[in-house]
Amino acid sequence: MRKIAVLTSGGDAPGMNAAIRAVVRTGIYEGMEVYGVEKGYEGLIDGELRQMTVSSVGGILHRGGTELRTARSERFMTEEGRKRAKTMLETFQIDGLVVIGGDGSMRGALELSEECGVNVMTLPGTIDNDLGYTDFTIGFDTAVNTVLSAISNIRDTSSAHDRTTVIEVMGRHCGDIALYAGLTGGAEYVLIPEAPVDVNELCRKILQGINRGKKHSIIIRAEGIDITSQELADTIHDRTGLDTKIVVLGYIQRGGSPTARDRMLASRMGYKAVQLLKAGSSSKAIGITGNEIVAYDLKDALEFKREPALELMDLANILSI
Ligand code: ADP
Repeated sequence: MRKIAVLTSGGDAPGMNAAIRAVVRTGIYEGMEVYGVEKGYEGLIDGELRQMTVSSVGGILHRGGTELRTARSERFMTEEGRKRAKTMLETFQIDGLVVIGGDGSMRGALELSEECGVNVMTLPGTIDNDLGYTDFTIGFDTAVNTVLSAISNIRDTSSAHDRTTVIEVMGRHCGDIALYAGLTGGAEYVLIPEAPVDVNELCRKILQGINRGKKHSIIIRAEGIDITSQELADTIHDRTGLDTKIVVLGYIQRGGSPTARDRMLASRMGYKAVQLLKAGSSSKAIGITGNEIVAYDLKDALEFKREPALELMDLANILSI
């Protein structure tokens, strides 16, 4: 009987549990033995594997975080660490590994595949949506909805006090969380690393809104832009005289029950990974293009350049005139 294993690695993202569940249940459905690895590559090196059953992934679909836990592993960055990981896989006679994680986890998977000949399928698990080869990553939609709900709450209180609020959101070097939440939340201005930051235009727009009788302004700042939230708030205050507050949303964006969209994405991708292993396909990165689940050679997937969604930035600017 074929044996496969699944692990989550790097930063956690809502929907990772749905992906684990899909891998485990599809594997069992296909007659495989499926093992769960605790704490990502760290657990792999230490042989922390346990056999999963249909019921061991019951009741996790709706939960954020990851039941298998996740970690960053310094040891896995070394050749020796990766060799140990391969030995563990051999000890458990595992011939296919599914890795759920971001860019770093994918790079680790590629090394394991190229150096040690391990067959690895990767699923993009990160809230940042910063991977070029896939339209969307698992966890992104939930993070956007979390920010959206924060915007609604902040809008109520900002409007009561005639206040301008700078909301700082996650995404590392990618502005997608800011852009999607800003556009759908009706923010007055969105600042992302992929587009030029024009503070003059930002202040002009705020003042124009006030002249039109607007009671408040919401500015969404992606964490990856050069100007800090404090500098931005100070500049807005200096140039407009408006009371300007900063809200840093931080780790709340990582948690929460995954949205239907993230659960669907994770379920379809987990299924695809197991089908590819079953078909004897060699190391691949699973993604989504349009509404189709796709698979690229791992190496090629990591070389894709991200296309910033600049047309959405234009739309956000038009709709917030
Ligand atoms: P994410 O997967 O969310 O991007 P990290 O960048 O922290 O998170 O990567 C997760 C883990 O993947 C790292 O702790 C390390 O063990 C492994 N990893 C990252 N980059 C490499 C690499 N170039 N070679 C080998 N392993 C890597």
